[in-house]
Amino acid sequence: MTSALIGLGGNLGDRRSALRAALAALSTIGRVTDASPVYETAPRHVTDQPAFLNMAAALETALLPLDLLHALKGIERDLGREPGPRFGPRLLDLDILMYGDAVLDLPALRVPHPRIAEREFVLRPLADIAPRRLHPALGRTVAELLAGLGEDQGVVQVATAP
Ligand code: AMP
Repeated sequence: MTSALIGLGGNLGDRRSALRAALAALSTIGRVTDASPVYETAPRHVTDQPAFLNMAAALETALLPLDLLHALKGIERDLGREPGPRFGPRLLDLDILMYGDAVLDLPALRVPHPRIAEREFVLRPLADIAPRRLHPALGRTVAELLAGLGEDQGVVQVATAP
């Protein structure tokens, strides 16, 4: 079993029920051992779209990394995500933020997720559930990465659970 950290987000439809459904679906592919509060996040890159809700969960799973990725893509599809532009609106996005202390650079999967260190909407919920987890490539903890973010990215806690 490996402890994976999963980032959840979405900005279309009933955003909290999408997060709830995603957590329920995650519990079919492993054991959800922790879940962060929910944060509302101003959209980045493509700013003309609704605000996102984001959270993070810890998943103990027997799935290997690529199998986990495919399972997450399956959950996104099952819950109704349709293909759309990069950084554009989405019902549900599930990312593998970390997978144990693995460092992977495959065409379909990079772990830890390559943009963890620059994103407050990822680091803030992650710091709620795994502040001392070491980023295996950067050699810094999640709490240290969060403290090192420069600008305010407009991430606000809105609920303790989805
Ligand atoms: P997204 O638009 O966020 O759903 O991601 C698009 C693609 O990113 C996926 O189909 C994956 O192949 C790829 N990807 C690379 N690294 C990761 C990761 N750590 N977690 C999730 N997707 C990833």
